[in-house]
Amino acid sequence: MAVESQLPANYKEPAPILDKENPFESMMQRFDVAAHLLNLEPGLYEYLKTPVKQIVVSIPIALDSGEIKVFEGYRVIHNNILGPSKGGIRYAPDISLDEMKALAAWMTWKCAIMSIPFGGAKGGVKCDPSKLSQLIVEKITRRYTANLLEILGPDGDVPAPDMNTNEQVMAWIMDTYSMHTKKTATGVVTGKPLLLGGSLGRREATGRGCMIVTLSAMDKVGIKPKDSTVVVQGFGNVGSIAAKLLREQGCKIIGIGDVSAAYYNKKGIDLDKAQEWIKQNRTLAGFPGAESIPQDDLLELDCDVLVPAAKEDQITQRNAGKIKAKIICEGANGPTTAKADPILQDKGILVIPDILANAGGVTVSYFEWVQDRIGYFWSEDRVNRRLEKMMKAAFNAVYATAEQYKVPLRIGAYVMAIDKVAKTLKLRGIYG
Ligand code: NAD
Repeated sequence: MAVESQLPANYKEPAPILDKENPFESMMQRFDVAAHLLNLEPGLYEYLKTPVKQIVVSIPIALDSGEIKVFEGYRVIHNNILGPSKGGIRYAPDISLDEMKALAAWMTWKCAIMSIPFGGAKGGVKCDPSKLSQLIVEKITRRYTANLLEILGPDGDVPAPDMNTNEQVMAWIMDTYSMHTKKTATGVVTGKPLLLGGSLGRREATGRGCMIVTLSAMDKVGIKPKDSTVVVQGFGNVGSIAAKLLREQGCKIIGIGDVSAAYYNKKGIDLDKAQEWIKQNRTLAGFPGAESIPQDDLLELDCDVLVPAAKEDQITQRNAGKIKAKIICEGANGPTTAKADPILQDKGILVIPDILANAGGVTVSYFEWVQDRIGYFWSEDRVNRRLEKMMKAAFNAVYATAEQYKVPLRIGAYVMAIDKVAKTLKLRGIYG
């Protein structure tokens, strides 16, 4: 069934934007289709599309020069009906409340699909950490945390790293929160250093999750890993790990790319050499042993699996028709625009949507939170086994829902998630 035919009567076509779509609108277009299929009552629709809390904080900081600069910080809790809200914190100069709202909602759906007892949130500070000293980034982090004390907590709102934040930033959040509550509260953030209650396997979790669901999708399509070719866009945490783990399963990685360049080798790229090159040179540019190709061509290479694991809005109405992969595994958040969805669907490409494909990260964040709370830490093998079990179960559940409603996996995933949150909400009832 074509996606357009399921659009609700009140659906409005967004203003024509060629390549970049407003992330919240993009999320809402998929949400609307799923809500319509579920016959979601108008009150519940209103409730689920609106974040429960949107906080904007001001962060005054004395810079190294002594000058005072005020940064703006955000935290959006989309929903906390399934449990404490969970979601990353990003530091970037171009973030907006709209982007936080979309990303927070995606976290709600992601946790629901994975059957994790968390709601969804997202936050960030409008700043460019590459232009700031480490001390200023620490000051920003601590003041941002202090501003959010009432909502943070292992049972309240639990941040994690995202774009331009890392284990160190999580350590500062954990320390600031603990200083105020007068006890060490490791469970207030995830993605922490191992020494502070982090989890083994967390760093590889998102790429590992991508590998697991890709194998499940290959099985459905009838592709054998050892006969398959894979192209990966983005060679950071998600892309490089997904590529490495897929190669370990026998797949041939014929294309890779990052912000600087893209490379093709039909015999298979030596990923260890690529990793070593990045270690020495920071980016892939100049990497020997593969043919340099235009970055736009990477996504259009003839291959079985394409893993966009770089950033949002990469597969758009402009290039969707030229994609030759049979499976797309969305390692990044929002790499496909809503307008590209029906084009990929018409081509019969199986798209594993971001809210399923990259949910390995939040799943092991959940494991980290559980380990912090029980004060007992698991082996890496146990983390990986449990992750595999949950990713496979989520893939199968999304696949079954998509088949039941005769829709693409993305809409199946939204239907499953919205249904779960709506049913939980009905059981809990509306307070007030
Ligand atoms: P990262 O910073 O480690 O890597 C990003 C990679 O993308 C780098 O190789 C960079 O060079 C490349 N890149 C950036 N802009 C590009 C462009 N215009 N064209 C081609 N390549 C480009 O980030 P990451 O943690 O790997 O995250 C990648 C994506 O996955 C993001 O969308 C993120 O939100 C999503 N994600 C990450 C996690 C996680 O646990 N790290 C979890 C869920 C989702």
